Amino acid sequence: AKRNGPGHWCAYTPSLGLTQLRRVLIERQLRSALQEGRLDVYYQPIVNLVRQEWSSFEALARWQDPDLGWVSPAEFIRVAEEAGLISDLGTVILRRALRQSVAWTAQWGRPVTVSVNVSATQLMRPEFPAHVAQLLQETGANARQLTLELTEAVVVQEADFVTAQLHALRELGVCVALDDFGTGFSSLAILGRLPIDILKVDRAFVRQVHQEPRRQALLSAVMLLGQRLGITVVAEGVEEQRELDVLQGVGCTHVQGYYFARPQPAEVIPPHGTPPPVP
Ligand code: C2E
Ligand code: CA
Ligand code: CA
Ligand code: CA
Repeated sequence: AKRNGPGHWCAYTPSLGLTQLRRVLIERQLRSALQEGRLDVYYQPIVNLVRQEWSSFEALARWQDPDLGWVSPAEFIRVAEEAGLISDLGTVILRRALRQSVAWTAQWGRPVTVSVNVSATQLMRPEFPAHVAQLLQETGANARQLTLELTEAVVVQEADFVTAQLHALRELGVCVALDDFGTGFSSLAILGRLPIDILKVDRAFVRQVHQEPRRQALLSAVMLLGQRLGITVVAEGVEEQRELDVLQGVGCTHVQGYYFARPQPAEVIPPHGTPPPVP
């Protein structure tokens, strides 16, 4: 119902009131969705261009609420963080992704890696590495088949503690990826300091790169940086052949994006992890 005329609605800032109402609704519904196991995980492949195969599958949380409909992860992840639900949510997604890795590995007869996003609250818990170890044991997954994706915002705080956590995770055999690379303020400082295996260059640098010489120069420099540091660079958000052409031109070996595949339910992903022929 559209009731935006004058009246008691205007006693408070209406948009703020609605935003808060939605937030409260999301929190309440998310809480029960978590309890009832109604959260989904979709998977988006990361393509190894050199070997022409899918090198990993990023697990992305999905949630369809009976009343709210599909809620975007950008929205419900933030609410989960604010409401103290993110560790529970993170555990649910991590367990599901590890089980999926075990299932695909058995089905396809080769090790299949999954990449799972980790938020600051999770990483900053002292028991997080032990918790990951326990989930690996519980699911029977191999640590080598797990990559944890962390954003800069996650790793800039409390440098010594974060470094210790990352070392503990890598001792388990888990790979660490720096997500959304280039969008923060301290990307280079982080690379100089933290044990990172994979760099995921944000879509901001990939988008329309064929028309943006500056982006192309930046990408080219990041590829070189990766080579020199022995870090795998993944270009995020590749949507077009023209973007892919430029990426390959600057030596990019790993890409992810709608051009290859959208995030989709595990059942829909074809076996053997071979990327579809480039359209
Ligand atoms: P992200 O980790 O950077 O994930 C990549 C996002 O880019 C995903 O959005 C994906 O669907 C989207 N994407 C992939 N390829 C393309 C492309 O070619 N073009 C465009 N325009 N977009 C593309 P999504 O699934 O909406 O997730 C948004 C963010 O929510 C993620 O960004 C991540 O930060 C967060 N998130 C999702 N699942 C989880 C989770 O389980 N835990 C945590 N902590 N965060 C999560
Ligand atoms: Ca990610
Ligand atoms: Ca990203
Ligand atoms: Ca992002």
